Amino acid sequence: MSTIAAAAGVKLATHPSAARRALRRHVDEDLNIIAAGLLQDLALVQSNERSRFGYKRAAKIIGAVLDRSVRELIAEGTLRDVPFLGASTERVVSELVREGESPSVHKALAAYAKRSDVEKRRGFRRGFLSRHTMRLALDAKLGAGVIAVTRFRGDLQMHTTWSDGVESVAAMANAAIALGWTRIGVTDHSYGLPIARGMSMAAAAQQHAEIDAVNESLAGRVRVYKGVEANILADGSLDLNEEERRAFEYVVASPHSLLRRDTDQTVRMVTAVREPGVAILGHPQGRMYNSRPGVAADWPKVFREAARVGVAVEIDGNWHRQDIDYQLAEVALAEGCVFALDSDAHSIGELAFTDYSIAHARIAGVPADRVVNCWDDARFDGWLRERRGRVRRR
Ligand SMILES: [Zn+2]
Repeated sequence: MSTIAAAAGVKLATHPSAARRALRRHVDEDLNIIAAGLLQDLALVQSNERSRFGYKRAAKIIGAVLDRSVRELIAEGTLRDVPFLGASTERVVSELVREGESPSVHKALAAYAKRSDVEKRRGFRRGFLSRHTMRLALDAKLGAGVIAVTRFRGDLQMHTTWSDGVESVAAMANAAIALGWTRIGVTDHSYGLPIARGMSMAAAAQQHAEIDAVNESLAGRVRVYKGVEANILADGSLDLNEEERRAFEYVVASPHSLLRRDTDQTVRMVTAVREPGVAILGHPQGRMYNSRPGVAADWPKVFREAARVGVAVEIDGNWHRQDIDYQLAEVALAEGCVFALDSDAHSIGELAFTDYSIAHARIAGVPADRVVNCWDDARFDGWLRERRGRVRRR
């Protein structure tokens, strides 16, 4: 049981198999993500911008780009063959592999005055998967009781040129076909988020005509749903009113503000989940790797409410988000939630972030039956109809 689940006093819905326990050990001992964190620590203490950039780039390559384990590359002596990984990175990684820690990072930190800043940032890196470990999680033989990539029918959170994405609806739909998906949901930002070029309702109407045309031309290959990513305001209400929400086939409600506070925001999140028309609670925490903690809330309580009203909890696979992670996903699973596993892509390449979502779900032991992306069309459409039909309880 994860420490979060244990602290919350909840029982896990399933007993982990030996294969899933072994996978979990790999996750806990993910040297790639630990090495990336040490390099982020070093970036923090650099006095010049150039070396700060160099360490951050090395961290990103080891955390988010490398397929192979740094343990293997150190054993082979080939880490330096990876572009942009230099001698100082090799020293840190090799210390970590051989000694389980890095004396050179300790030394650099000992001379650094703002030690509390380092500790704070370390707290913003918990529960993330490296690309290497994500691949292990996808490849592990966990049995039919746990979601597999082959069961995934398509992504339900992505952005296009209608807000802050870089591709058209048609380009995203064709990319989905190339990935073997049969459905996607386009969820450009609503007008309440001008920083992300959120759509006016007039623009949404034009977008819907474009989606209709794409659906007509790609009929039988992929179906594009008309979603929207609405903004959860400070009091838990949404930037779109109930009538505006009805213009879409589904609403993802996500927090984009108040993501750096320690104060409890359970009421805000529970209120958002109860809002009529909401289908998915998007990147529930709003956390960001190495930079912000996201919303603090009594998550078992939020998830219990999501389960009660049938709102899916998202595992957002964007590498920097990974929100919620496998630990919270175990809690949501035990509370009876269904899940949406989404990329939050802003480009075609980012559609592959669904791999991280699926990996977190597999580590948590989520079955395909609890993942709305895996449901057949009849069940998925029925669930969306229910979400749209939900009225406010007084
Ligand atoms: Zn968002």
